[in-house]
Amino acid sequence: MIKGKAALVTGSTSGIGLGIARALASEGANVMLNGLGDAAAIERLRRDLAAEFGVKVGFNGADISKPAEIHAMVRAAVQELGGVDILVNNAGIQHTAPVESFPPDRWDAVIAINLSSNFHAIQAALPEMKRRNWGRIINIASAHGLVASPQKAAYVTAKHGVVGLTKVVALETATTGITCNAICPGWVLTPLVQKQIDDRAARESIPAEKAKLDLVSEKQPSHEFVTPEQIGALAVFLCSEAAAQIRGTSLSIDGGWTAQ
Ligand code: NAD
Repeated sequence: MIKGKAALVTGSTSGIGLGIARALASEGANVMLNGLGDAAAIERLRRDLAAEFGVKVGFNGADISKPAEIHAMVRAAVQELGGVDILVNNAGIQHTAPVESFPPDRWDAVIAINLSSNFHAIQAALPEMKRRNWGRIINIASAHGLVASPQKAAYVTAKHGVVGLTKVVALETATTGITCNAICPGWVLTPLVQKQIDDRAARESIPAEKAKLDLVSEKQPSHEFVTPEQIGALAVFLCSEAAAQIRGTSLSIDGGWTAQ
């Protein structure tokens, strides 16, 4: 099902996006990477991924807070990989502050990168998917797409928005071979979360190891982090024929966080 398909994964130079890109490449998909970071390190990553799995791997450095760059990235993927059969909207950022002191420019950035980018990428990729009557759109939302936490006004708003957008796109494509679903991870130990662990350790004057365990345990009954590999495997399943009638849903992978 996935072999030979073209996949565009935003924010795949790190963390969850990289886990998903690796999982799709391991199933034989050609992959377009996207994200920020050191150019030489990204080029190494691109080459290593292509060599390890024997697939085509491209990179596009679009800043996904900019709609025109998203559209250009999708056009580049079509040109270089022959299409965008699988679109994974994954790139995201975090900013934490109480709502009354939340910097407006951080609000705008989180909404643009975590929510509006999903809309623009879907708009750009859908016509090509419709022409082939096959597609998989996977939006990486969060447990924070289903429940809230203090200090995360922009992030929680954006992720709830992603869950809503996912449902609308799934309804509009319901009679086609295109599905749209959201994955809602709990804590995954990536650079985005490491910063929150470091902030917590500094704020509470506790060792980083204790801050890490406290962070995961206060939300996840399993007391264990979710891994990028587990999320990659779920994305692979959503691309399979078995998942063809999973439409518009939000799949939690969160150690029990939202079961409470
Ligand atoms: P990460 O910081 O490791 O990776 C984020 C990726 O997005 C990087 O590749 C980065 O370069 C890219 N990115 C950021 N801003 C960008 C921009 N303007 N243009 C292009 N690329 C940009 O973070 P992560 O934890 O892997 O998060 C990935 C996604 O998963 C995010 O949407 C995040 O909200 C979501 N998520 C993460 C967790 C977690 O616990 N880590 C939990 C639930 C959901």
